[in-house]
Amino acid sequence: MEGIDLEKIYDLIVLGGGPTAIGCAIYAKRFAMEVLIVGKTFGGLIATTHIVENYPAISSISGQGLMELFKEHMNSLEIPYISDEIKNIEKVNDHFELHSFFQNFKAYSVCIATGSVRRKLGIPGEEEFAGKGVSYCATCDGPFYKDKVVCVIGGSDSAAKEALFLAQNTKKVYIIYRGEDLRAEPINKKRVLESDKIEIIYNTNVVEIIGEGKVKSIVFDNGKRLDIDGVFIEIGSVPNSDIAKHIGVDINDHNEIKINRKSETNIPGIFAAGDVADAPFKQAITGVAEGVIAAYSAFDYVKEMNIEY
Ligand SMILES: Cc1cc2nc3c(=O)[nH]c(=O)nc-3n(C[C@H](O)[C@H](O)[C@H](O)COP(=O)(O)OP(=O)(O)OC[C@H]3O[C@@H](n4cnc5c(N)ncnc54)[C@H](O)[C@@H]3O)c2cc1C
Repeated sequence: MEGIDLEKIYDLIVLGGGPTAIGCAIYAKRFAMEVLIVGKTFGGLIATTHIVENYPAISSISGQGLMELFKEHMNSLEIPYISDEIKNIEKVNDHFELHSFFQNFKAYSVCIATGSVRRKLGIPGEEEFAGKGVSYCATCDGPFYKDKVVCVIGGSDSAAKEALFLAQNTKKVYIIYRGEDLRAEPINKKRVLESDKIEIIYNTNVVEIIGEGKVKSIVFDNGKRLDIDGVFIEIGSVPNSDIAKHIGVDINDHNEIKINRKSETNIPGIFAAGDVADAPFKQAITGVAEGVIAAYSAFDYVKEMNIEY
């Protein structure tokens, strides 16, 4: 807790440990704001991907490696970071109080950059075999499936990248997608289509995962069954917006926080950015940009308050 003062009212507290939060805090610090980051885990979603090839100025790096660079930058500016999960935010007089299980933090402004959690399929067997053949992270669990047969469920760019990663070590990778055409970046789609280890099964839903102690097969909506050692689920994410909802921040039908072009929410002093917000394109670089805009708007907001220190 070095450098963290629980009595102080910070100018800005940034919630999150992903690229959006760190980008926001770097700019806030450079605006000479008293900033604190409170993050449940450091790194966020991007740290779970094996390769990032679209972050400008870095042609190729692992997600973990990218976040190490973010950490170095954060540390070089001496931005305080605390590992904790905020459960609740309330407005008290002119500032906000943020509560975790064990401690409270205070700030004049807050940026919510809490990202999202992986979406579940909600089919029989998914929960039962989680960690026993069902995974939501190829980078984390892929190495356990050397020379095995696995599948990736989903058709996004992330699904394509997960399949390509898995194909390096496994015997065979099926991509099972309910649509007709992969929604991957053209370069990743081309790599998938050219891989002799990856086979795509289109227009198909998985309705059940079957096993005994561990996954053995999956069942399709056409009644067919496929024997498989590992099931990687990559069907998008659900925004972590509950804390925003509780304080009255406007949320859309997808549980995303509504923001404007200044990363402002409907509550003055509360900003949001990144995967938790309602921007249609969710990438590290766009999250960072929204986080940076949030820092700028928070700076303006706090300046207007004319606080006497
Ligand atoms: C497989 C895969 C591959 C991807 N590849 C790329 C890629 O190549 N390039 C790219 O640009 N993007 C990629 N993305 C997308 C990218 O990961 C996200 O857009 C990005 O991580 C969003 O950053 P974020 O900081 O908004 O949210 P997140 O990265 O999700 O971070 C949210 C953070 O908030 C913390 N948190 C949550 N709730 C709380 C709370 N209550 N209190 C405190 N902290 C909290 C979490 O612990 C986490 O640290 C990929 C995603 C996936 C799944």
